[in-house]
Amino acid sequence: MVAVPPPLGGSAGVSHRLGGPPALAGVVHLVGAGPGDPGLLTLRAAQLLATSTFIAHDRLATLEALELAPPEAVRVPVGKRRGGGWRQEEIERLIIDAALAGHAVVRLKGGDPFVLGRGGEEALACAAAGIPFEVVPGVTSAIAAPAAAGVPVTHRGVASGFAVITGHEDPTKPETDLDWSALAAFPGTLVILMGVVSLATTVDRLIANGRSAATPAAAVRWATTPLEEVVEAPLGQLPQAVARAGLKPPATIIIGDVVALRAQLAETPSLIRAA
Ligand code: SAH
Repeated sequence: MVAVPPPLGGSAGVSHRLGGPPALAGVVHLVGAGPGDPGLLTLRAAQLLATSTFIAHDRLATLEALELAPPEAVRVPVGKRRGGGWRQEEIERLIIDAALAGHAVVRLKGGDPFVLGRGGEEALACAAAGIPFEVVPGVTSAIAAPAAAGVPVTHRGVASGFAVITGHEDPTKPETDLDWSALAAFPGTLVILMGVVSLATTVDRLIANGRSAATPAAAVRWATTPLEEVVEAPLGQLPQAVARAGLKPPATIIIGDVVALRAQLAETPSLIRAA
């Protein structure tokens, strides 16, 4: 006879066990919310949301995730937009003040907090203010958006690495923080976040520095959500294709031979689609 173990104590007990300890008063939890699909939240993110008393969330952070928080938790949307919304210093002040006031603070950020999300600045601000903080990695759109479109960012024999860069540089200024000749020569996949507005400039720079205009490329908007859209075209034609489709931010741009795998991977019915 095998001894039957006692019950685990219900779903709350299970989620506590797997998601770690609850959110703490006086602490800022910098939490990645993933790319959009609530199924891509981590167990730790779910546990912290369920036990927080104050949530400051991005515009792009999964809104369904907020349903996990207690109804009485304070929710502050701290979205930034081009030319408006919350300034970075105001967000940092808000989360620090909330922690000082004794709240269990969740700072919910789209994707991963440390991938082009200014999470590092928020962690530094907490450290400078003497506020304890915890960083919870999230599923970044840099890999989730390609995956949703049927593109593996690396693939044996096709791409041995990938680089994630920001396209959010002022396209009207001639100077750039990025080394475009190195990026054009990079022997792997390029993934560009915040790159829709500057797409034509980016493509010109890559081609001028030697990337082939025939390189397979795609833009994926609102990946992993019901609003997902994909535009695929060779690099040299991607800006026109994106403009023709009327594709707006937020989108992830993927450049590299791995995009050609979409032809097989995007159309193969998965178990989920077949169900
Ligand atoms: N920290 C985030 C990125 C912040 S920058 C992360 O790790 O994902 C914001 C950019 O991310 C957007 O402009 C867009 O390029 C990309 N992005 C975020 N969510 C996305 C989604 N659901 N689909 C496609 N791109 C997305």
